[in-house]
Amino acid sequence: MVGAVPINGDTLIWVAYAAPLLVVLLLYFVKKRKREDRSRNVLENSVKSGLTEPPSLHPVIDPSICVGSGSCTRACPEKTLGIINGKAHLVNPTVCIGHGACAASCPLGAIKLVFGTARRGLDIPYVTPNFETNVPGIYIAGELGGMGLIRKAAEQGRQAIESIAQNRATGDDLDVVIVGAGPAGLSATLGAMDKKLRFVTIEQEDSLGGTVYHYPRNKIVMTQPVTLPLAGKIKVGEISKESLLELWQGIIRRFHIPISYGQRMEKIEPAEGGFVVKTHKSEFRARNILLSIGRRGTPRKLGVPGEEHPKVIYRLIDPEQYRGRKVLVVGGGDSAIEAAVSIADQPGSEVTLSYRGEAFGRVKEKNRERLAEAEQSGQLAVRLSSTVLRIDEGYAEIAQGEETHLLENDYVIVCAGGVLPTPMLKEIGIQVETKYGTE
Ligand SMILES: Cc1cc2nc3c(=O)[nH]c(=O)nc-3n(C[C@H](O)[C@H](O)[C@H](O)COP(=O)(O)OP(=O)(O)OC[C@H]3O[C@@H](n4cnc5c(N)ncnc54)[C@H](O)[C@@H]3O)c2cc1C
Repeated sequence: MVGAVPINGDTLIWVAYAAPLLVVLLLYFVKKRKREDRSRNVLENSVKSGLTEPPSLHPVIDPSICVGSGSCTRACPEKTLGIINGKAHLVNPTVCIGHGACAASCPLGAIKLVFGTARRGLDIPYVTPNFETNVPGIYIAGELGGMGLIRKAAEQGRQAIESIAQNRATGDDLDVVIVGAGPAGLSATLGAMDKKLRFVTIEQEDSLGGTVYHYPRNKIVMTQPVTLPLAGKIKVGEISKESLLELWQGIIRRFHIPISYGQRMEKIEPAEGGFVVKTHKSEFRARNILLSIGRRGTPRKLGVPGEEHPKVIYRLIDPEQYRGRKVLVVGGGDSAIEAAVSIADQPGSEVTLSYRGEAFGRVKEKNRERLAEAEQSGQLAVRLSSTVLRIDEGYAEIAQGEETHLLENDYVIVCAGGVLPTPMLKEIGIQVETKYGTE
């Protein structure tokens, strides 16, 4: 007999030891393969939907250092990163919010955080270490300056006010106008109270919180303890959006903090000894201005008659609020589709989605599918190549091709993107540097 291998005791011992090891290895490789397949799918979808550019601060991975340990993918709650060919990749770039948990978790230091990409530059205003811009008296704190985190925005707001307190006004002028009541503006406002400055805080929205106010309902906010002027150390880690806003509201009530809501800064003009800040309602003279306006901009308006009607809103917070209502959603991006579909899911609601384009372009595949399903089930009507002409109490008039239609509605939700503050900064003379994937 040729080729027969005698099985002796030693061989059996080897098999007994090797078999479990082989099973473990097999399971490891199957799991790894599945993980890589998932990452490839996510990346493919992002590319197919044209969603390849991160909005702000984001990680870049050095492939010569990365060993694909996966610590970064586990650290990222937004699931921005995946592993492909044994290396970390930015597979879902548009959901990145730049908190840098990935970079902190990498044991080899293979990740750095940068602004912009080679294809899409990001404008970052020039600020000195005390948060003053190149225009003396105008300061910037928070995300507008490029720092995309709640704790850091709040810290910068506090420090910026400390610098401003060294440069108080004379005469009747205010010491400072604080623009924006997100984490940076809130902290700055508390600092201004603490330092007994003469100040006004203006906020274009009807409530404080900035970007946090617009997070999806029940979103878990990941932050770290922060020291707020007057209030002291706030020990928060993971907290729901609602609880965080409640906490801030409580501080505002406790210290009787005045914030002027529904007031949008439109222009800054130089004046003797300082500036005049013009809003759409009034104007303020001040020695200094602190811009804590974030990077999300002011919602883009349609510019049609009747838009000032209170039924017109620019961001969807809670779809349940529209149960049983007729709603017109205007826009053609992910946020418009997400708003339309989530309202259409509410019992008794009737939704029309109006978009001026001929087709939905750069939107997530999943949203495209959800929209098609909602349309097919009759929950939602889509009107492409349509524009809103005017809005009135119980209806809106839209033009579609040669025809015009009166659509009955209780609410109009406009999701037409935001007007970013860069042109306004440049107009005031603030130097802005466009970063193409640099720190
Ligand atoms: C979906 C999402 C999830 C996030 N999750 C986290 C997280 O878990 N943890 C974390 O630390 N960070 C998170 N971030 C980032 C964080 O929200 C921001 O970094 C932070 O809110 C920035 O604070 P800010 O005060 O600089 O600006 P913002 O919060 O953007 O506030 C700016 C304020 O200025 C107002 N404003 C703008 N223009 C004007 C004007 N012309 N006149 C008057 N008011 C004006 C705006 O209405 C707004 O209220 C997330 C961001 C997003 C988009």
